[in-house]
Parts: sequence; C-alpha cells; structure tokens
Amino acid sequence: MIKAQISEVKTLLSTPKNIVIVPHKNPDGDAMGSTLGLYHYLKMFDHNVVVIAPNDYPDFLKWLPGNDTVLKFENQQEESNALITNADVIFTLDFNAFHRAGELMASPLEASTAIKIMIDHHQQPDDYAKYTYSDVTMSSTCEMVYNFIEMLGDADKVNPTIATCLYVGIMTDTGSFRFAATTSRTHFVIGNLIEKGANNSEIHNNIFDTNSYSRLQLLGRAMSNLKVIPELRTAYINLSQAELDEFKFKKGDTEGFVNYALSLKGIIFAAIFIESAKDNIIKISLRSKGEFSVNEFSRAHFHGGGHTNAAGGRSETNMKSTIDNFISILPKYKKELSQT
Ligand code: 5GP
Ligand code: MN
Repeated sequence: MIKAQISEVKTLLSTPKNIVIVPHKNPDGDAMGSTLGLYHYLKMFDHNVVVIAPNDYPDFLKWLPGNDTVLKFENQQEESNALITNADVIFTLDFNAFHRAGELMASPLEASTAIKIMIDHHQQPDDYAKYTYSDVTMSSTCEMVYNFIEMLGDADKVNPTIATCLYVGIMTDTGSFRFAATTSRTHFVIGNLIEKGANNSEIHNNIFDTNSYSRLQLLGRAMSNLKVIPELRTAYINLSQAELDEFKFKKGDTEGFVNYALSLKGIIFAAIFIESAKDNIIKISLRSKGEFSVNEFSRAHFHGGGHTNAAGGRSETNMKSTIDNFISILPKYKKELSQT
C-alpha cells in the first residue's frame, strides 16, 4: 500500500464508519489474531466494528480477547447479511479471493458496495479491493496489521489486547518463529508486541498446551499411518472419517500433524489427506521446504492454493484414488523434488 493510499485510508477512517472485518473460512490463528487485533484497534475510535467469521474455528483460539463478539456467518446469516449490506468499509484479512470466505459468504461480499480493504500475504490476489495491501514475503497477516497500524501513525496505540491478538497469528503462521518467512523484522515486531504487553509464554501455553488425550491418540494414529517415498523426498499421512470418529475429532485437532511428516530427515514435501464425510471431500494440507511450491502444486492438481511452503486443497474422489492420484503426479516433479 503506497503512501497516498494510506493517507486516503486515514481520511476514510477519520469519521465514524460501519466496519465489517472478515477472515477466511475455517479461520486459523493468523486469521483470528489479525481480525481481532484490527477489531480492537478500530474500536478505539467511534466506529461500529464487527468481526464476521465464515464459520467456526478451533477451541484453542476461543480465549482470544473479543472472541465473544465474533459472529459466525454460517449460523447467523440474517444478522451477518444486514451488517454486510450496511457496511461502509469491509476489511478482508488473511485471504485474497472472495471464494475463500466460503460459498455462503462469497455472494454477499461480492454484492456489497462497501469500500473493501484487503490485508493479506497469500499469492495471486484478486483485485476486488479499493485498497490492497498484499505482500507474499510477509510471515503473517498479523505482522501486516501491525505494519498497517504503524503506517497510520498509531504504533503507540497498540495496547496489551491488540498485542496479544497479533502475537498469536505471527506465532502460529511462522511455526513459532522458525519458518523461512520469519525475518528480523518479524522478530522486531514480536519484540514490540511483548513490549506492549503480549505475554508470550502464556499465549504459547493457551495455543499449544491444551491438548486432549484423544487428540494425542489421534496424533499417534496419524504417525502410524505415515508413509515415505524417499526417492522423491516426500512423506504423507492419511486419516479416514472412521479414524477421526474413533478419536472424537474436534475442529483443529489435526492442526500441525503434517509438520511431523515434514520433520523427517531428508523430506522436503509433506501432505496430509483427511476425509470429511460431511463435505464428501478429502481435505489436503501440503507443506514443503525450500523452492518446491506447494501453492502451484495445489493449484494445478487439487483446486487449492496458499503459499510456496504451505498450501491447502481438496479432492472429490475417495481416499484411495486421491492418494493413488497424488503418487502418480509426483514423478512429474522429480527434478524439483530431488534438489538438495
Ligand atoms: P492449511 O493446510 O493449514 O489448511 O492451509 C495452508 C495455507 O494454505 C493457509 O495459508 C491457507 O490459507 C491456504 N489454503 C488452505 N486451503 C486453501 C484452498 O482451498 N485454497 C487456497 N487458495 N488456499 C488455501
Ligand atoms: Mn496467514
């Protein structure tokens, strides 16, 4: 976002507005941290602000300050539609194409005449927003919201509540500050957030140390289902609906499982295939190390996308044919996957 646009946004927000903030469907830590961080910032002024999530998110995010104010479009359509129709400004955070808000919510967003502001770090943004702050080199949308507040000249307004929300998304999207997109600037922003009152160790506990016994058992099953294709430096995991049911799967329980596959020595490409009987699809999460772009892989073969090293997608065939298909595609990438 260039300086002239920032000054336009500053003018836009200088009088009270009806503002709706939207994360992507199946919101993760960065989606909820960034939307709630921005929510608490905008609430300091005389705006009517609301976060509308397309659907529910994992329990480990439900301690976030402001969680109780979040509407879920899926369950509160009438109220959400009215807020979207009456909005002057709509912020879309941590996604860059309306369809990522899910089938239900995409059409009211498209129909809305509100001024759209996109803050996002995924590849290939659509151009629906009047103001687009898109940067694929960023660790997280939360880091960008910090930059956005700073560009508006309000870094000094970041309080413990905002700092806590933004800390969450930077921490979760960087795998606790270890993925390649973690820069010295990321650490500088994190340092500032701690300075402003984010309690780093408490936040870490709230997100990562709330495992249920059944989730750890599910992790055990996932690990025993792990398969390796050493010559293509690839590893993958599958979980069927029956296995999810056996271990009382709750939203968010499989978060991070795919990273264990990627942690195998020598592996640079990892996938997890998770059956969803409700949606009649196999949900796919892809991760890589180095140059191999799972974003492109997912766009080309699994109706998805994301980042170079983390992407998602889906398959509409059953588990066996999805995995057979995956295995049959891999040799096309032999060159990329044999890189050291
Ligand atoms: P995850 O595997 O954790 O669901 O997603 C990894 C990354 O890919 C996230 O940044 C997420 O926003 C993105 N992503 C996940 N699923 C999809 C999808 O179906 N389409 C696109 N474009 N991005 C996705
Ligand atoms: Mn993100």
